[in-house]
Amino acid sequence: MKWVYLFSKENTEGNKEMKNLLGGKGANLAEMSSLGLNVPPGFTVTTEACIDFQKAGNQISDSIKQQVQEALKEVEKVTGKVFGDSKNPLLFSVRSGARVSMPGMMDTVLNLGMNDETVEGMSELTGDARFSWDSYRRFIQMYANVVMGFNHSLLEATLEDLKDARGVDEDTELTAEDLKDLVTVYKQIILEESGRSFPTDPMDQLWQAIGAVFRSWTNPRAIKYRDINGIDHNWGTAVNVQTMVFGNMGDDCATGVCFTRDPSTGDKRFFGEYLINAQGEDVVAGIRTPAPINDESKNDSNRNLKTLKEAMGETFDELTEVYQKLEAHYKDMQDIEFTIEKGNLFILQTRNGKRTASAAIKIASDLVGEGILSKEEAILKIEPELLNQLLHPRLDPKADKKVVAKGLPASPGAGAGEIAFSSELAISLAESGKKVLLVRQETSPEDIGGMNAARGILTARGGMTSHAAVVARGMGKPCVAGCSDLVINYSAKTVSVNGKTFKEGDHLTIDGASGEVFEGLVPTIDAEISKEFANFMSWADEYRTLKVRTNADNPEDSEVANNFGAEGIGLCRTEHMFFEAERILAVREMIFAEDVMSREKALSKLLPFQKKDFLGIFKAMDGKPVNIRLLDPPLHEFLPHSEQEKNELAEYLGIDIREVEDRAEKLQEFNPMLGHRGCRLGVTYPEIYKMQVRAIMEAAVESSESNITVMPEIMIPLVALKGELAILKEDALEVIKAVFKEKGKEIKYKIGTMIELPRAAITAGEIAKEAEFFSFGTNDLTQTTFGLSRDDAGKFLPEYVGRGLMPNDPFVSLDQSGVGFLVEHAVKEGKKTNANMHMGICGEHGGEPSSIDFCHRAGLDYVSCSPYRVPIARLAAAQAALNNK
Ligand code: PEP
Ligand code: MG
Repeated sequence: MKWVYLFSKENTEGNKEMKNLLGGKGANLAEMSSLGLNVPPGFTVTTEACIDFQKAGNQISDSIKQQVQEALKEVEKVTGKVFGDSKNPLLFSVRSGARVSMPGMMDTVLNLGMNDETVEGMSELTGDARFSWDSYRRFIQMYANVVMGFNHSLLEATLEDLKDARGVDEDTELTAEDLKDLVTVYKQIILEESGRSFPTDPMDQLWQAIGAVFRSWTNPRAIKYRDINGIDHNWGTAVNVQTMVFGNMGDDCATGVCFTRDPSTGDKRFFGEYLINAQGEDVVAGIRTPAPINDESKNDSNRNLKTLKEAMGETFDELTEVYQKLEAHYKDMQDIEFTIEKGNLFILQTRNGKRTASAAIKIASDLVGEGILSKEEAILKIEPELLNQLLHPRLDPKADKKVVAKGLPASPGAGAGEIAFSSELAISLAESGKKVLLVRQETSPEDIGGMNAARGILTARGGMTSHAAVVARGMGKPCVAGCSDLVINYSAKTVSVNGKTFKEGDHLTIDGASGEVFEGLVPTIDAEISKEFANFMSWADEYRTLKVRTNADNPEDSEVANNFGAEGIGLCRTEHMFFEAERILAVREMIFAEDVMSREKALSKLLPFQKKDFLGIFKAMDGKPVNIRLLDPPLHEFLPHSEQEKNELAEYLGIDIREVEDRAEKLQEFNPMLGHRGCRLGVTYPEIYKMQVRAIMEAAVESSESNITVMPEIMIPLVALKGELAILKEDALEVIKAVFKEKGKEIKYKIGTMIELPRAAITAGEIAKEAEFFSFGTNDLTQTTFGLSRDDAGKFLPEYVGRGLMPNDPFVSLDQSGVGFLVEHAVKEGKKTNANMHMGICGEHGGEPSSIDFCHRAGLDYVSCSPYRVPIARLAAAQAALNNK
């Protein structure tokens, strides 16, 4: 087993492709060494060694130790220095480095190998006792903090006391003698506080530091970070042990960080900061204001400081050459750390720089223009989810904010406003011009109006496919769902969270992209769609084969989706249209009807409303297919709840309120999700679907008479049996024929079904005999395949994911081996029956990149997702085509 990989100009064993084994930092140090850049030599202990360490009960095995010692000898050879030697000491930096950069883990210990002897050797060698003692005291501080677990402020306070006693402001003003005294005090404090002496044996220091890096992989902060970012807990971290170079040996020394392009705008300008006579952590710690490396990097706080270009012109030119070489080699914007030791430039790290979404698009587009990337490479470089940032208003990154809770990032964007605990209040506040945040235990279809009026939605219960989440994404409203720390008291009109209580009317802000909830109103900034973005998306369109449709229920959402490039509607949920004030009474009348005649009477009142909706949608989607699903949810979702609603209904129907309550009671079900819903409503109350089909077809014919190109698709939900579809199709055909006859005009249309129950998927070959298309309803198909309620799973699924029982929430990323197996089977069997059958997906997975890759491989024709995810789906579909060539 090879546990340790060398990197130096003379001998490098790794390369940039080995991130899984060497971590990102280690792989890039190896790559840069091979490129001949001036990288201080060292070695990387692998991520596999980290796993071995954990398995062995936090012990470094003999075989790892042996390989570390061999590597150490090799580094001594190439540097001509000796670890622990009092005359010519070799010192190391020890840094963690996982596959992806991961705040929360141990980061860095510098100057490892210093002790009472080597410090003297250093003084003689450099002729600079002050520098040596300063390095020593820094080492003790860092080691005590990151390896021994001391609070950072403990030793820092001693340093501050000493500065006060000497009457100086800056560390640099302390003398060698001061620092020597400081080291003595530090060692005393450590002994008193821990009962252990500070380790003076360099080898001992090294083993402890390596062990500390490995252990930091499982510290609570790191675990939390991985949970939030979906990083595998089994990867482990590598350790990089690298020869120290010093940026703090005088005024011909410096340390800094630079970006090859501007990480916030993407503009092509070399950009960075540095400090003369300093070590790396000084730049990060913000004790001194770093200076700009060049004029392009100047801002209000550093304008008067000397640039690196002015201070060390030749080294700046060298750095310029290095950055150009690295950017061309990695074909991406780089974030580079460097140190200048007595005029010599050393490169300590390079990585693809973090950037905003707009910078990412600009950089990828420019790199294509510069001939560094091909279009294909540019498309593959952008993480589709990143586009979220571009499409929604977002929190002003410069604003002060205080997080009070965290839930699921259900729908991105920033939403801020007064707390309203009911939809009615949200609507009335919004009508009076107020900004509102709707805060609910959970939402139901009745809350559509309130959700629409609110700037954002925050719920205590529910997962990523809960009502609140799905509807909010459809509306493009920010939403944080399933924020289980919230304790909502509707009667007291308060929400308590982590010891704080907010009343109705108090302000909260949510960030739907991160799931964070903030106190007060945090300022937001608008999204802008740049020319570059539009152009980049047109490249994606050249490569994708999947079409991208949208889930939209009204003309406004359809319009938004069109602007984002939707190629049709993949799912129009007709029930969402039933909740507007003037319709709900007729809907309730329909539900309460005790015979066909009275039901038909109520339905005839609804017909004009539905028709108007469809006219609007056909107009918005002129020339594109529109898939309309007939009524799906269990009827009791439309029941009146409040006393006032019940009274209103009793009066409207001319019956007693008790009668209203009785009939409502009868409609209750134990398992509504598995109950009287979907096509079962159509089978038992055919007049409901007939009214809907009539509304669709009358609207379609009338639209086509006004020169709108209509392509209606009528979709029957929750089919399990071929027979269900056969009966309902016959009903529909009867109505369609009648409409054509009345209007004296015929148009093309399709009738098909959703595949959202395992039985439908298994018998798809049979069902296909009655269907012109399949649309996979993977929300219900996931729910029924797992036997897992989509509305309740949020309570325990996080633990399943946390413990590795599931790689992801299956309501977010399609479970490819289970649910996906059913989808593939249904596609195959459906096409056997009807080779030209059109197939798509309209569950929430239709907007999720890894599920879109699956849909591409499964041979679907399109994916359908909420309007704001259309660009993400277009890009993910292009990536799927390129990755599966
Ligand atoms: C589904 O089940 O995947 C679907 C799209 O329908 P709904 O979410 O409305 O049940
Ligand atoms: Mg469904």
